[in-house]
Amino acid sequence: MHAQLLTAARQPLVAAELPAPRPGRQQVLIAVRACAVCRTDLHVVDGELVDPKLPLVPGHEIVGIVVEKGEAADRFAVGDRVGVPWLGGTCGVCDYCRGGQENLCDRARFTGYQIDGGYAELTVADERYCFAIDPRYGDVEAAPLMCAGLIGYRTLRMAGDGRRLGIYGFGAAAHIVAQVARHQGRRIFAFTRPGDVAAQDFARSLGAEWAGDSTALPPEPLDAALIFAPVGPLVPAALAATRKGGTVVCGGIHMSDIPTFPYRILWEERVLRSVANLTRRDAEEFLALAPEAGVRTETVTYPLARANDALGDLRSGALQGAAVLVP
Ligand SMILES: [Zn+2]
Ligand SMILES: [Zn+2]
Repeated sequence: MHAQLLTAARQPLVAAELPAPRPGRQQVLIAVRACAVCRTDLHVVDGELVDPKLPLVPGHEIVGIVVEKGEAADRFAVGDRVGVPWLGGTCGVCDYCRGGQENLCDRARFTGYQIDGGYAELTVADERYCFAIDPRYGDVEAAPLMCAGLIGYRTLRMAGDGRRLGIYGFGAAAHIVAQVARHQGRRIFAFTRPGDVAAQDFARSLGAEWAGDSTALPPEPLDAALIFAPVGPLVPAALAATRKGGTVVCGGIHMSDIPTFPYRILWEERVLRSVANLTRRDAEEFLALAPEAGVRTETVTYPLARANDALGDLRSGALQGAAVLVP
């Protein structure tokens, strides 16, 4: 099968011809129809997330068709369409797994990081971490739901239910979260790189009532802020824009260093927190909610062979919506 392979950090992916993977006992073999490109893939390729499996097939926003099953796999039938997210496996017995926080499992394994992912024609996945995809979505359209959507949704949930919601970094996750938040009746204030008028227009088209530079203060204090851009200085910026008792949630897996800031912007019971990974419950909730909320995804498709171009466009911030690879 054709695949795009990371052989060393900070190197471009290379096209490779690999043997077709075989499904293990509780795994399904999946013919990949679409795999979205996540900011996390860039952090892996750029060496900001250390110790990936090498060589590695990246990609953890996979939509495909089950073509074969392991002997103990019985959740899906051959021919079913499934989605595969970042969470690829958990131990099931650690305190986190037993306490409803499998996203923090001590021995979690992640798709496209410790497990080969979806930048390929075929992939295998543990069926217990796969999800059915609503038929209202096409394959390409559904792919960004599997991480930008799922982890974006977890980030939104952690922000509480304040009505005035700031979103810093208006990429793939933000464009989905904004639609969910609008559906919940919240008001959206979008913050982009200074001067990025195109991204600000994109945010307004998705229901933001205000869009401006990340260095600016919003017209009203925020009840909560979500940070999706991997830029540490956004943390004090978001705290300064958030009201007393409000919450700032960092939704990414990696961020540049956060500069020192005066205690007074955290004081008055503002809360600063991060979100890590996802639980299967997040996935079930979000994948049921998205079609009901009318969430649509904006995508730019690339043939699998152009994976490096997709990563490059994501790095440069040129994309509006999500990049999706199609084998
Ligand atoms: Zn565990
Ligand atoms: Zn991701």
